Amino acid sequence: MVTFRCGHCAQRLTAIDEKSGTVLTCPSCDEPVRIPSAFTPEQTEPLALIARPAVEFLPGSDPWLAELAQRLRSRLVDGLLTQRRQLIQTQDTGTIQLTEFEQRIAQLQKLHRERIQELKLRLDARESEIRRLRRQKAALLVELESRSSPETRLTAELRDAGLLLRA
Ligand SMILES: [Zn+2]
Repeated sequence: MVTFRCGHCAQRLTAIDEKSGTVLTCPSCDEPVRIPSAFTPEQTEPLALIARPAVEFLPGSDPWLAELAQRLRSRLVDGLLTQRRQLIQTQDTGTIQLTEFEQRIAQLQKLHRERIQELKLRLDARESEIRRLRRQKAALLVELESRSSPETRLTAELRDAGLLLRA
C-alpha cells in the first residue's frame, strides 16, 4: 500500500502499490493527484513527519513491516543528515573564502595606507628642504648686499653701463 497526502488539500490517501504513478481524483477536494511510488511519501513529507514512529506509516502488528519502515526511515534520515552536513561544509567553505578575501582586502588597504604615509613623509621632507634652501638664498642675498661697498657698487654699475673699459 502507498500512503500519501493530496497535494491540494493535504488529505491522507492510500492506494495499492500497483497504482503508483497513476493519477486519481482526490475524494476530498476532487483535484487530480498523482499516486507516488511506495517510498515517496516518506521522502516528500516533512522531517517532523518522518520522525514519527514507523507504526504510524504502517498500521498493523507485522514486525517485519515495522522493521522495514524503521530501516527506510533511518536511511532517509541518514541521507538528510548527510545533505545537511554537505550544506554546512559548503557554507563553511564559502565563509572561509569570504574571510580570506576580506583579509586580503584589509592587507591591501594597509599597504595602501603605508604607501601614502611614506609618500607624505617624502613630500614633507622635500618641502622642508625647499624652505631651507629659500632661507639660505635670502640670507646669502642679505650678506652680499651688506658686503658690497658703495665703491664696488659704483664700479659694477659703470661696468654694466659699458662706461668702464678696465676693471
Ligand atoms: Zn485533495
